[in-house]
Amino acid sequence: MAIEVKEPLAARITELRRTIHRRPELGFEEHETAALVERELDSLGIAHRRVAKTGIVARIAGAAPGRVAALRADMDALPIAERSGVSFSSEVDGKMHACGHDAHTAMLLGAAHVLSRMRPDLRGETVLIFQPAEEGPGGALPMIEEGALDDPKVDAIAMLHVDSRLDVGTVGISPGGVSASADEFYIDVRGSGGHGGYPHTAVDAIPAAAAIVLALQNVVARETDPLASAVVTVGTIEGGYRNNVIADEVRLSGTLRAHDSAVRDELESRLRRIVGGVASAYKVDATIRVIRGYPPVRNDTTLARRFGAYVRERSSVRVEEPPATMGAEDFAYFAQRVPGLLVRLGVRSDAAGSTHPGHSPQFCIDEAAMPFGVTTLVLFAIAISSGEISL
Ligand SMILES: [Zn+2]
Ligand SMILES: [Zn+2]
Repeated sequence: MAIEVKEPLAARITELRRTIHRRPELGFEEHETAALVERELDSLGIAHRRVAKTGIVARIAGAAPGRVAALRADMDALPIAERSGVSFSSEVDGKMHACGHDAHTAMLLGAAHVLSRMRPDLRGETVLIFQPAEEGPGGALPMIEEGALDDPKVDAIAMLHVDSRLDVGTVGISPGGVSASADEFYIDVRGSGGHGGYPHTAVDAIPAAAAIVLALQNVVARETDPLASAVVTVGTIEGGYRNNVIADEVRLSGTLRAHDSAVRDELESRLRRIVGGVASAYKVDATIRVIRGYPPVRNDTTLARRFGAYVRERSSVRVEEPPATMGAEDFAYFAQRVPGLLVRLGVRSDAAGSTHPGHSPQFCIDEAAMPFGVTTLVLFAIAISSGEISL
């Protein structure tokens, strides 16, 4: 079955994407976006329900029994002031769709159009998951806890994420680890203050903090398998009063990232040991707080290989296997529960100026990529719900 997205649907998807782009909303505030999604689903006669405040779960049942595919799109924007220069730029000060979630939502609605038209020929069911708050605090887990994967019971799930590394017309379907865990850490270093001219009468928190930053570089450089992937980034450092005062306190914060759960656990324990050891050497107290964020995303290996071949056979979409990134995605929670695929959608085009990475104020996508994304989503829904790809 050839799946092609033609006019007028391609124009409708672009229109939906631009409407969402103009009105960016942050996590769990996606009221206008959710209302737009619901209106479009209503116009197609697709049943839907609210899940996790601004999340929506919709169902498209085929004419014959089969399995259940799920497709997930995130809907939230970022607190960034847009400088992309597009004519449909954000109308909301300080907020922007700089990660492409506007396009994700529009493409999932595009897939809803195609699948609802094909209903009489379809087997099984497709669940459409419109998720809030991917950029934080995380909408995937609350949606799962409220039953997004249970009614009906989902057999496999896929998502698209725009990717400015890949050219338009290409999707990335890589087996195994594709994105990293992201854990936050906060370190408070406390000494005792004093006069800058009499350091021996105080305990200076600044050299202790500096030594902690340098010692932490050892975690990745000397203690982690070079073939594993790990990041320890100290993102902020603040403390002190003025040039001639010894600082009694310095606060550090950062992020720990890994592809593998065991490496993830080791990063935290090494951080705690090193910070504790350096603090004791410098006679300061250090308190460490680690807040666990999203787990790593692992694409189901069998599903990735089979679906990559399936897309190549049935469409003109080019399939690549791009390397993993150290970004994070709360799709991880879905992929922990059912076989999942994080599919990257190429949106890079020098002609369209789509070369800036996600989260940049200049980020923009080449909209010509969206029909390829819709085709890929529809193919996944058909492959799983019909049982053509078995797991
Ligand atoms: Zn993002
Ligand atoms: Zn994103």
